[in-house]
Amino acid sequence: MGAPYLGNSHKKEIHDMSRTKPACQIEEIKEEHKIPIDSYAEVLRMCREEGYNGCAHCLPELHTD
Ligand SMILES: [Zn+2]
Repeated sequence: MGAPYLGNSHKKEIHDMSRTKPACQIEEIKEEHKIPIDSYAEVLRMCREEGYNGCAHCLPELHTD
């Protein structure tokens, strides 16, 4: 898992892998729900177009709900 961001397709949440906290519970995300994301531009696009939301713990500037 080398991508800088990780989407959870189940919770529609995106984590910043450089800032993850225990509260992110990354290890709880099922493999089939993990979406590696290569760029911040793609993170923004997914938030805008696909209903994703930033994680409150590691990507709070994109956390909206
Ligand atoms: Zn997180």
